[in-house]
Amino acid sequence: MKTDRSTTEALRALRALARYETHGGYVWAAVISDGELVCVPCVRAEYRQIFRATSDPSDHSGWRVVGTVNSGDSEQTETCAHCNKVIWEYDEPVDWACGYSGRLTLKIKPSDAASASHSGRCDDDVAELRRVPYIAEQLAEWSPEDLRRELKECGAWDTAQLADNGENIARMLWIACCDVRDGNC
Ligand SMILES: [Zn+2]
Repeated sequence: MKTDRSTTEALRALRALARYETHGGYVWAAVISDGELVCVPCVRAEYRQIFRATSDPSDHSGWRVVGTVNSGDSEQTETCAHCNKVIWEYDEPVDWACGYSGRLTLKIKPSDAASASHSGRCDDDVAELRRVPYIAEQLAEWSPEDLRRELKECGAWDTAQLADNGENIARMLWIACCDVRDGNC
């Protein structure tokens, strides 16, 4: 959690938060000076008061924002210090291993698995998921050889179709997401 931002940076972060100019895919919240979080609806509702407090480094009203944080950086459920609503629920990652050899493994949050295993085409969502840092790190560990072999076992693709490792990663990631969604892991 970042609490060392300068006042200018805190104000910039506060403005961005109130305007929803934050990165997608995460739930964001303001971090206030005592380390508690305030949800975006409360930030917007109390913006004038929060802005004033944030502009003054010596403010102790409990409204001074020191930065922002997102759900991806937190390993616990967080509630808003102002309205007490749950801001985000911590989503404990589950372990998946490929059903054939178990050599391809993935630790993935159920919400992320659900995002890329809905009905209909999931290609764009799978592509998006591949860019999520904690997923990307793990995919980089998958051996192209294992991947080809495992997908061959599935029987849905022939050797020519399995030539592209990037496509194979996307296929296996989608299979992993479906398995996690269905509880097959
Ligand atoms: Zn709130």
